[in-house]
Formats: sequence, structure tokens, C-alpha cells
Amino acid sequence: MNLVLLGAPGAGKGTQAEILKEKLAIPTISTGNILREAVKNGTKLGLEAKEYMESGKLVPDALVISIIKERLAEDDCKNGFILDGFPRTIPQAEALEKSGVVIDRAVEIAVSDDAILARLSGRRVCIKCGAPYHIVSCPPPADNICPKCGGEIITRKDDLPETIKARLEVYHSQTEPIKGFYEERGKLTVVPGEGGIENTSRAILEALGV
Ligand code: AMP
Repeated sequence: MNLVLLGAPGAGKGTQAEILKEKLAIPTISTGNILREAVKNGTKLGLEAKEYMESGKLVPDALVISIIKERLAEDDCKNGFILDGFPRTIPQAEALEKSGVVIDRAVEIAVSDDAILARLSGRRVCIKCGAPYHIVSCPPPADNICPKCGGEIITRKDDLPETIKARLEVYHSQTEPIKGFYEERGKLTVVPGEGGIENTSRAILEALGV
């Protein structure tokens, strides 16, 4: 099953991708996590992406498209994959389609802007494995060491209040039109994303028929 998770930043794509990955036994591919790792390691890609990311803008299409093509060509993707954070623009969705990748379903996790603002300001993330935490709904341990991998749990720079608004604007103008792209192809399912983590994953699994 080749899946795309859609939704605003903070809608819960990362959280649901972690759950789905276990249930479906296919890898999750998060362009955000790949880019953050590159920034952390100071690679050429990381240096190119850093400023865009920290100001809440999208990294240029060409960069992320080549990351995704390389990653999808790896062996572990041959039985399916879950895309978290890609595509994020119509040209990215078109490039994926043109490269011959067939998406079976695009699931949008629908969350209002007000809920997104509350969520992102409390979000924390493991810098090493990308596992998501939240100060209210999924508090990290007091020492901020990730129980899954031993990495440090941090606040992402782009989750600082001044950047959150910019990211929501980018989402509405550049990413939301992708819903129409998948709807036209009969692939879009919208699930409510404000009813808690378990209800959201149940709705997604039901929509997928698993
Ligand atoms: P995320 O973790 O998915 O919220 O991504 C964090 C940041 O990485 C975004 O705000 C963008 O700057 C960048 N990014 C991640 N995925 C993409 C993408 N598909 N296209 C462009 N920029 C991306």
C-alpha cells in the first residue's frame, strides 16, 4: 500500500505515520525528518535547506523531489510506504506521479487552525529518531531523553510562535490544493483529526479497510 498523509503542520501526520508503520509493516518516509537530519549533520543538503526550514518556508521542490526519488528506490519501499510531509506542492505531486509511483490513497487529517496553533506551541520532538511528543497530550520524560532511541527531545525551531503562523499560511496557499489533486483521481479520504490519537488512527485504518 502506497500512502500519502496530508494535513496542516501539527495535524498529527508524524504521530499517525508511526502507528500506521507498525500496523502495516511498511516504512514511513518523512521529508521533514530527512531534512532535519541533514541540517544536524551539516551536509550540503542541510546547508541548502536550513534557512527555509527555520523561517517556516518550503524547501525548493527540486531538492525534496530528488530526496524522495532516491528514498523510494530503496529496497524497503517495495511493498509500500507512508509519505509524511510529501508532496507539499502541486509540482511535487505531479513529479511523483510522473516518476511512475502510484499512490493508492491520500488521507487528510483535518484539524482547525486554532487547534493547530495550540498543538504546535506544545510540540516536542526527538532530534535523533523524530518521535513526536507534546507537553500536554504526550509529555516527554523529565530528562528529555527519548525512551525509544536515547536521543535528545527538543522544541523544533520552526515550532516557535512567530514561525507557526508563517507555516500555516504556506500550508493554506501551497499545500492545501493537493487535496484537489488526489480528489480528482478518486484517492482522497478526509478523517477528523481532533478526536484524540486513537480515534484518529481508528478512522484512518477504517478508511484504508485494514
Ligand atoms: P515537517 O517536519 O514535515 O513539518 O517539515 C519541516 C520543514 O521541512 C517544512 O516547514 C519545510 O521547510 C521542510 N519540508 C519538509 N517537507 C517538505 C516538502 N515536501 N517540500 C518542501 N519543504 C519541505
